[in-house]
Amino acid sequence: MNAEVITIGTELLLGEIVDTNSSYIARQLRDIGVSIYYLTTVGDNRARIADAIRLSLSRADVVITTGGLGPTVDDMTRQAVAEATDRELVFYPELLEQIAARFRSFSVPMSDNNRIQAYIPAGAIPVENPVGTAPCFIVETDQGTVISLPGVPREMKHLLAERVLPYLRERMGGVGIIKARILRTAGIGESNIDAKIADLEEWDNPTVGLAAHTGQTDIRITARADTELEADRLIADAEAIVRERLGEHIFGVDDEELEAAFVQMLHARGWKLAVSYAGEQGESLHARLHRDGFGDSVVCFEQYEPDAAEIVARLGDVDDDDPCVLAKAEAARLAAESGAEVVVCIVTQQNGTGITARGGDRERSRCYPFGGPEIDAPVWAGTWGISMAWRLVRQEEG
Ligand code: ATP
Ligand code: MG
Repeated sequence: MNAEVITIGTELLLGEIVDTNSSYIARQLRDIGVSIYYLTTVGDNRARIADAIRLSLSRADVVITTGGLGPTVDDMTRQAVAEATDRELVFYPELLEQIAARFRSFSVPMSDNNRIQAYIPAGAIPVENPVGTAPCFIVETDQGTVISLPGVPREMKHLLAERVLPYLRERMGGVGIIKARILRTAGIGESNIDAKIADLEEWDNPTVGLAAHTGQTDIRITARADTELEADRLIADAEAIVRERLGEHIFGVDDEELEAAFVQMLHARGWKLAVSYAGEQGESLHARLHRDGFGDSVVCFEQYEPDAAEIVARLGDVDDDDPCVLAKAEAARLAAESGAEVVVCIVTQQNGTGITARGGDRERSRCYPFGGPEIDAPVWAGTWGISMAWRLVRQEEG
């Protein structure tokens, strides 16, 4: 089954509100195995909404709209769906009664224009809205199905979970259980992961997908099955294959965090970590590694100024403007002075960021130009610093 989402509202086009409905619905549909190929946003204009619905219906099995179901003149969705599906709007007395009952329960008089909310396309399946006044509806046509939900996220989410997802599951053959497991990786880029498990990403059930975060990538396995046991088995089989190919990069599952996994590993070995950084990109690392419950595994954390003259005097003929050279030199100093078994040093300069991790007899270094939005740079640097150190300690374990 494939679906499309059309979010309706001129405010969305003007950038006055951010469309969170599309991404929310997209995630929920993904989790039940419905594919989405297009997301559309259209303003409060009847003809354009109808056009958008027709176009989506020509491509997809199911079209979900949000917004424009209120009682005011700019709420056009009812008329547009009727137009796109060649139907009249028809008065549903039971819908008016539901709306009236909701107003009574708040002791608020119902205004006349709420009556128009009881008009929905002929033959539509009405969907009661217990969390708002706007009734929703499902129109089944030969071309496909249109499902219209309110724009207010809280109402939309409720109706999606309670009514729409069960309806779609039923139509997809009553798949009982959807389960997902996330394998979290570090120290390897999304495209390298993709190259190793591209064949699994073509699977239908379970599905295997990638989600890249800043410097870290998740592999998500989602299974559909009649029973939980069966879903678990599908996931376990897929997980075994992924681990066979990428196991050395997987630090945890579901919501486990890299820093926690790393600190736990240090703890288990009785090792200490020392960190130093030059430039603001180390600050996020500080926050991530100084947390309750992390115990005394992080022994030293300092901000320092690279002393180029001292480094040149110590190392001889080196490029004292290269952040990678500086990070390596600083890592050597910190390892000697702190006595910690593992050190991470991050040096940020105008010309890039150098990251060095040392652990046991090993060292890893990387240098980044760090383009892109600067706001992400500290998170990248921190994540890469931790993942490099994490891999060193893991390699020690063999
Ligand atoms: P109402 O009965 O409240 O008028 P409605 O179905 O007509 O509901 P809209 O008027 O389109 O919905 O939107 C109501 C409010 O819901 C918007 O002002 C906005 O705050 C929020 N909203 C609408 N669409 C979206 C969306 N796509 N993403 C996030 N918020 C949205
Ligand atoms: Mg409205």
